[in-house]
Amino acid sequence: MEGTENHGRRKSRLEVVERKAEAVRLMFQLYASGKGYKAIVGRINREVYRTKLDNAFSVAQIKSILTNPVYIGKVRYDVRRDWNEKRRNNINPNPIVADGKHEAIISEELWEQVQFMISQKNGKPARIYDGEYPLTGILKCPQCGAGMVISRTTNRNKDGSKQKLTYYACGNWKNKGTTVCHSNMVRVEKANTFVYNQLDKLLSDEKFFKEVVGRVNREHRILKENAIKEREVQEKSLEKSRFANRETMNFTKTARFPGRNF
Ligand SMILES: [Zn+2]
Repeated sequence: MEGTENHGRRKSRLEVVERKAEAVRLMFQLYASGKGYKAIVGRINREVYRTKLDNAFSVAQIKSILTNPVYIGKVRYDVRRDWNEKRRNNINPNPIVADGKHEAIISEELWEQVQFMISQKNGKPARIYDGEYPLTGILKCPQCGAGMVISRTTNRNKDGSKQKLTYYACGNWKNKGTTVCHSNMVRVEKANTFVYNQLDKLLSDEKFFKEVVGRVNREHRILKENAIKEREVQEKSLEKSRFANRETMNFTKTARFPGRNF
């Protein structure tokens, strides 16, 4: 009986490993065929792991898998220069790679091809989003509550010209794909203007200001009152325990020396 159970567990563990290997193989193949991280993450989560939320792969995980030589049967040492430091620039650009004792999941040719393609892509300047998008992370996805991030699309106009549009989109969707959430996109200009207008209205509204100040004062007063109440309660209970101690001492005296009068 126990043996069967163990066997079943071993089998399901093997299935997980097989599934992961399948996902990794697909990742490398898709990347080599020119697909972007977003497309890869979507497909993997949809086809291989169409399961729970927390099982879904993220773009960051796929990036790290695609550069890990463990999948061609090698082991990577010395990745961090200083293990006490976890900063990003602590990563050693030339870690030691050695043959491991495990089986390769993908071929070395495929791995090399992917590494080459990644290095080509890394040569391009990174996109940096700064003050232009002040609501990044502040806006929350109405569906899942994740912070909204910047997402760009290129639309083709009727006359054939291209137009780049920038949106705030669900961070979960951007990172993990449509299995997890929808894009729930909103144009950056539209969202910024709306929020600026609301802020403007609030700040120029004297009544609103007074209300905020009044609320802060009220909260402060309540906090103070609560603190005073709490101190009173503590003092009372301290007084009580002092009294109880005295009682116990009196009791001990009489108990220890019965019949004698002190
Ligand atoms: Zn969402």
